[in-house]
Amino acid sequence: MHRPFALPGTRPRYVRDRGYDMRHLRLDLALDFEARRLAGTATLRVAPLAGTPRRLELDAVELAIDTVEADGRELAFAYDGCVLAIEPPQGEEIELRIRYSATPRRGLYFVGPDAAYPHKPRQIWSQGQDEDSRHWFPCFDSPLAKCTTELCVTVPEGMICVSNGRLVEQYGRTFHYRLDVPHSPYLVTLVAGEYACVRARAGAVELMYFVPPGREEDAARALGRTPDMIGFFADYLGVPYPYERYSQVCVADFLFGGMENTSATTLTLDTLHDARAHLDFSSEPLVSHELAHQWFGDLVTCRDWSEAWLNEGFATYLEVLWQEHAHGADEMAFERADYMDQYMREDRERYRRRLVERRWDEPLEIFDRHLYEKGALVLHMIRRHVGDAGFRAALARYLMRHRGGTAETRDLARAIEEATGRNVDAFFDQWVYGAGHPELHARYEWDDERQAVRIELEQTQALADDTPLHALEFEVAAEVDGEWRTVALVAEPAAKQTLSVPLPARPTGFVIDAGRHVLASWRVDKPLLVWARELSAAPQAIDRAQAATALGRDASQLARQSLTRSLEHDTFWGVRAACARALGQVGGPVALAALLERLGREPHAKARRAIVRALGEFVADAEAQAALEQCFRQGDASYFVEAEAVHALCRTGADAALEVAQLALGRPSHGEIIRQLACTGLGELRAPDERRDAALSLLREETAYGRPVQSRRAAATALGALGEGRAPVREHLERLTTDPDFRMRLAVVLALGALGDARAVAAIERAEARELDGRVRRRCREVTRSLREGVRREETVQRLTEEVAELKRDGRKLVERIERLEGQLGKASQ
Ligand SMILES: [Zn+2]
Repeated sequence: MHRPFALPGTRPRYVRDRGYDMRHLRLDLALDFEARRLAGTATLRVAPLAGTPRRLELDAVELAIDTVEADGRELAFAYDGCVLAIEPPQGEEIELRIRYSATPRRGLYFVGPDAAYPHKPRQIWSQGQDEDSRHWFPCFDSPLAKCTTELCVTVPEGMICVSNGRLVEQYGRTFHYRLDVPHSPYLVTLVAGEYACVRARAGAVELMYFVPPGREEDAARALGRTPDMIGFFADYLGVPYPYERYSQVCVADFLFGGMENTSATTLTLDTLHDARAHLDFSSEPLVSHELAHQWFGDLVTCRDWSEAWLNEGFATYLEVLWQEHAHGADEMAFERADYMDQYMREDRERYRRRLVERRWDEPLEIFDRHLYEKGALVLHMIRRHVGDAGFRAALARYLMRHRGGTAETRDLARAIEEATGRNVDAFFDQWVYGAGHPELHARYEWDDERQAVRIELEQTQALADDTPLHALEFEVAAEVDGEWRTVALVAEPAAKQTLSVPLPARPTGFVIDAGRHVLASWRVDKPLLVWARELSAAPQAIDRAQAATALGRDASQLARQSLTRSLEHDTFWGVRAACARALGQVGGPVALAALLERLGREPHAKARRAIVRALGEFVADAEAQAALEQCFRQGDASYFVEAEAVHALCRTGADAALEVAQLALGRPSHGEIIRQLACTGLGELRAPDERRDAALSLLREETAYGRPVQSRRAAATALGALGEGRAPVREHLERLTTDPDFRMRLAVVLALGALGDARAVAAIERAEARELDGRVRRRCREVTRSLREGVRREETVQRLTEEVAELKRDGRKLVERIERLEGQLGKASQ
């Protein structure tokens, strides 16, 4: 059974009545950095809707309201700290002027240096999504209250200001921006700081990249493909980029990777990277994602947060479309496979929910791997279903019809039907309104008499939950006489069925769901020779990688040989990485030798990283340990390979692991990836008590305020992994629940969950009560729930864990014995 998504007591959410239409919003604000305060006037032009009461209610949290005026006359108002209630005069359109000030705890953030982080830049930035704009200006804070906006902001000395739309004028420290296309209040942005600006163009669109002075080169590296992306999206969608300008501004301590504020995206500073990181790190997924939102999210907005997959699913899917366009179908397929893994992990380990979901306490709760990754994969299946041309026509229709407004899932279904004639209601019921995904078991069999492959297909998902049986479309790729052909198949929503694929002769390779397009988990029973052939010859890289994974579950000589050969010869790095992973799974001297042999020669940093990680499977193996230690000490062109080396070394339980990890904690890298994985490794260190104590104390030191934020979080997570049964570790983590960094608090709460000690419940409940971030609050509730349940389950889990470990040990011993026997046989036959 999967965990339910809705927590006890959660009721479905609906957009509340509003009474008035928002037409235009203007903010005239002055910012005071030292006092962390803003003050000024919000001018709202509103129009009453027919038959509604005269009372106008605006969201406005913790603002100090001075006066409310209309037509130059002061109005009475009621304000309870959350909602500002006014009775405006009658009229078709009313202009309200609200004078106010605020020292916001959310929505607008003032970041700057302190004693522990003296080099942090001084910046002010807003983050409205989902419902936080109300913390810095009064508005009807709902995605459907779209209006044009204007910001006139006076910033502190030395700072410049970035906001939505075009810069109308600038005088002194005052910046006046205006956006003439209606957008939602959560997309209103204000960023102020000391910035250098790198300019570019995409046709008529003016591009500006705002980065801290001195990082202009990094800006070109991280953001330089923006013009190509704009060109590609405009062409693909058939709708030009909707605004005059596109700014991207990098800020410190950002709450997300990026935020698609209309025409002025905010990005985390961490996306800027040096040339060395550029070997195996790319900003393109983030940059293309936020850019895609300018169409999906900003121009056309989800009507209410329950429908937010229309924002995030599209932005995430357009990331992979860009990937396909810029880097080819194989890269795209691997990114999709990664999405699938992420979604399935959440589905397996956290909860299962419908894509359109109303049962939440805060919208942020549904911004998860369902919303982004599953949403994207569902769109991908729609594209496969109606074809690329149909998909593009449907998107153009959807965008043109709802531009400047909002949409919901049914609008997308209608646009698809109108453009392509295909009714997708059943598809949407299955994938959007139904939870889960197909869990498939396929048995392959060649029927010599009928000259056909028979696929016995079972859908097993319905056994566990109320997950529906699915209708499915997929392709098989079959190799007959050295020629690959594809055959399209349709499966009924049935628990069991047999599909038949007639072929001129028995195929040598037979890939089911070629290209891995269906969002499903597959278990496929197929002869080993067929898998081996697919690994060496399937046309699509993702299919070869799937074959490698299947062979990794087999300990035969044929499997090892095939994997070793492809590790050496496959032309795509992702397949070589999959072979490395599989060889790590198989274990034994042959696999080890193959990995060690390849390590020094593998040219692609990502494949090298996979090899290093696979070496970490060789627990207590001196040869693997020596290679990993050397890899770390002599260094690698890639930060990520070095990071993986220290992580893997710890996993092997090497004597040198502690010392190397300590070195790694002092080695700088992009995003502190080396320090992070040193912490992760320490958390997985298989070591006797006294070394475990040493590891715990290193990790505790690394959680100190003042250490790099990324490794602090990794250290907290690692304490959760390693500190089981240690009361001082739990108490240390409990103290960290008051940390100023919300991501640290998130890591700490999850670590307390991992410790599994129900005595932490009280501290987590106190943390939840103080918490301002919706994501952390949600995790607090999930963790306390599982800690309470865990008390009952503890014994069972303990027993199962031991059994699994024992089985794994037996399996690896078996491989070693088989290899020895094979060796003896080989000698005997010589
Ligand atoms: Zn997004």
